[in-house]
Amino acid sequence: MPIATINPANNRLIRVFDPLTEEATRQKISLADETFRANAHISIDHRALWMRKLAAILDDEADELAATITLEMGKPIHAARLEVQKCALTCRYYADNAARILAPEHIPTSEAHTSYVRYEPLGIILAIMPWNFPFWQVFRFLAPALMAGNVGLLKHASNVPECALTIESLVRRAGFPRGTFQTLLLGARHVEHVLADPRVGAVTLTGSEPAGRAVAAQAGWLIKKSVLELGGSDPFIVLPSADLDHAVQTAVRARCVNTGQSCIAAKRFLIHDSIYDAFTTRFVELMNQLRVGDPMREDTDLGPLATLQILEELEAQIEAATQSGARILTGGQRMAGAGNYFEPTVITSVPRTSPVYREEIFGPVAMLFRVRDLDEAIAIANDTPFGLAASAWTSDPTEQQRLIAEIQAGAVFINEMVASDPRLPFGGIKHSGYGRELAAAGMREFLNAKTIVIA
Ligand code: NDP
Repeated sequence: MPIATINPANNRLIRVFDPLTEEATRQKISLADETFRANAHISIDHRALWMRKLAAILDDEADELAATITLEMGKPIHAARLEVQKCALTCRYYADNAARILAPEHIPTSEAHTSYVRYEPLGIILAIMPWNFPFWQVFRFLAPALMAGNVGLLKHASNVPECALTIESLVRRAGFPRGTFQTLLLGARHVEHVLADPRVGAVTLTGSEPAGRAVAAQAGWLIKKSVLELGGSDPFIVLPSADLDHAVQTAVRARCVNTGQSCIAAKRFLIHDSIYDAFTTRFVELMNQLRVGDPMREDTDLGPLATLQILEELEAQIEAATQSGARILTGGQRMAGAGNYFEPTVITSVPRTSPVYREEIFGPVAMLFRVRDLDEAIAIANDTPFGLAASAWTSDPTEQQRLIAEIQAGAVFINEMVASDPRLPFGGIKHSGYGRELAAAGMREFLNAKTIVIA
């Protein structure tokens, strides 16, 4: 895949970028290494000052930055602006909380005079990031990593190079020394040389399962720490005691966030038999009301899919689903004209044998399932290789507790759609990956918890 900006609203090529040469890549790694050492004397308070400045720039320039995001990957402009603002919030969260999270943890032992854990940065962290939230995915790594004293190398997705370069320049403008955060314009196959460099201490990847497997296999062989945030096929369970109107409106938002291209978008809707028909009628109605079109317009709900490849993969998934017996209640087609637009789609009767039953669907396509009771809802919710998150709707406290305890996922949200929040850990189990981002847990992934004993 070339490293290029292609507007997904019309597939016009805007700019092609030259990949870094091997020598230029080595120089950037050297600079990162030198900067890591030089930064060691910089206090947390000082880093917090830069981090707050970074937040202020993001807020001040949210409109221009949002336009860069929308141009490169097609998300509606209002959503792109919210993404930038969430990055600012996260920078402030870590500026405010890093000292607390990084504080030595005293653990008295009767034998030692002093015993404690001291948290130290690991050095250069390689971040391999996707295009779906081209700022947010990077900032949720960058803010804790830089506050902890690590330095970052970003290998961003090849279709969002302008976002990648912009983020590097924002970090510099905020005051962080040159080399603290650098973008490497590299194709995926060149990443293994970067990870293999002994000066690179760890890697974090957000993306697909195959990419995660490849990178984690290499990291494992090299004995380097890795964090993986991969796909999801999150269930959205609605039981009879739920506020149906609220649930169905949230269901549409939860499926269509980012034109359906989100790991934590609700993808499988498991609806109790007694409310299935009412839910389905209203859900289809609301999906049909979504405004699909120019992502630069403020009133657009769904933009184009980020790349032609994503559109073609989605088409193939729908085709395979219908071949295997699934029924389309609405949508199901790419839209006429230029750009990677796909109709808001609802499918039902997806057999367990259909490939799409087990796959992640990255696009505005909802799969509906009728369930007879809570047991069946939980069984289907867990019948997936993924385990990222789940949203479940019921006002019955006993049902809520069963859902919390029995759903196999990194997060369960009751009567709310799943969303990430800098104050709460984020990550999955099973094929959705391992490790956590955000909150204290996310910051500690790339720290050496050094045990100190003074007799
Ligand atoms: P990829 O996983 O291929 O891309 C994500 C990032 O990983 C990109 O920076 C990519 O670089 C890089 N990458 C890919 N393969 C390797 C490798 N072997 N070694 C090192 N880096 C690698 O996702 P796609 O864009 O191809 O999307 C495919 C599917 O993945 C989607 O339909 C969706 O199901 C899932 N996905 C999930 C995401 C999530 O948020 N969990 C995000 C994006 C995708 P490059 O762009 O140069 O290939």
